Amino acid sequence: MKRTYLIKPVLHDEYPFITHGKGIYLYDDQGKQYIDGSSGAVTASIGHGVQEVINAMAEQSKKVSFVYRSQFTTEVAEQLAKKMSDISPGDLNWSFFVNSGSEATETAMKIAIQYWQEQGRNTKNKIISRWMSYHGITMGALSMSGHIQRRERFEPMLENYPSVSAPYYYRDANGRTIEECDDDYAEELEKEIWRVGKEHIAAFIAEPLVGAAGGALTPSDQYFRKMKAVCDEYDILFIADEVMTGIGRTGKMFGMEHFGITADIMATGKGMGAGYTPIAAAVVSEKVMEPILNGSKSIMSGHTFSANPQSAATALAVLQYMEKYNVVENSARMGAYLKKRITELAQTSEIIGDVRGKGLFVGIEFVEDKLTKKSFSRECDLVNRIVRANFEEGLLVYPANAGVDGITGDAIILSPPLTIRKEEVEELVTRFAAALRKVE
Ligand code: PLP
Repeated sequence: MKRTYLIKPVLHDEYPFITHGKGIYLYDDQGKQYIDGSSGAVTASIGHGVQEVINAMAEQSKKVSFVYRSQFTTEVAEQLAKKMSDISPGDLNWSFFVNSGSEATETAMKIAIQYWQEQGRNTKNKIISRWMSYHGITMGALSMSGHIQRRERFEPMLENYPSVSAPYYYRDANGRTIEECDDDYAEELEKEIWRVGKEHIAAFIAEPLVGAAGGALTPSDQYFRKMKAVCDEYDILFIADEVMTGIGRTGKMFGMEHFGITADIMATGKGMGAGYTPIAAAVVSEKVMEPILNGSKSIMSGHTFSANPQSAATALAVLQYMEKYNVVENSARMGAYLKKRITELAQTSEIIGDVRGKGLFVGIEFVEDKLTKKSFSRECDLVNRIVRANFEEGLLVYPANAGVDGITGDAIILSPPLTIRKEEVEELVTRFAAALRKVE
């Protein structure tokens, strides 16, 4: 084994060395080809090696790569902010650029708290989030996350923000209708607001479709309307965490567009730079900006690299590429096709219990018994076995847990680049089916 100085997720594991990528494919130094069926961590949304983006990066670096946001603005950062305003729903017009999804959700949280402070409502500083959720790894973002394994080690330092259920009809319905489930989820939120006191709550945060902590858990068309109505009734802001679902992933530019409501603040990241640069954003509505613009006139947050022109030019090129080649429409079309093919596969598979998701964000939950929905035991280590079997077949899939206890569900997400073509989807499904046969 080569001596390594790089801290990797599992220190004693050997990781292949990737040398290059093109389109949906990655290649390692042994000549093995992988389909990037997860876009890394749901990130490489336009595939690898896109020349238009590479050109834009080179052009910007010839001009200037970095200026500090406290001293200057740049044409390219302003253009990106305008683009974000154009593509974001409703009055989500103002962008605060950061470098990662965790920073985006944490910035969103801080802006929500500041919004109330500007109006003299200083006690509104808690967030409500859902048990099946992941909002990031920094302490504030982790405080909002219900991802048990990621919280565990730091629990004493974290706030207990996760407190209500996410819609998990596959296991929660138990003979009830979806509508009845949604009513119960909304009632649970209302009860929690009464328990904590609305005067203490700044915002409710939710992913449109739950990613890492759920495996593309997909709400009904009505779910978010009901949840937002409760937020509105009790003067609570709604933060949509679109870090994973944003920028075309679910077949619309933003996941929340499926549900017909607009957030007060939106966090986005991952696909925004599509892996070409680290960039993310908290996108803020006019409603939330108004008391800040009329009050302290400054948002108390920021990072050294916020709005740096190199990342701004890269993200702008990614968004222009997506527009030029109708990438969001392709996500909707190819996503429907991928989901159909996996649903067909599920009919003959002994262990696929549920197939869910929207666009190229397809979740698959595995069970030991399809009738009783009994999960595999922890000793089975099912998700890791699935991931490894796919890896051997040259297919990358994204592992996810489902279940608030970290034990109930084994799920993965298929989320290839949004530029994938139909014959490439077929190739992905063929590799996935071969991996499944090895595990079953
Ligand atoms: N929010 C959601 C919904 C995510 O899926 C993630 C990452 O997976 C994050 C926030 C954190 O993003 P990052 O890893 O870029 O900090």
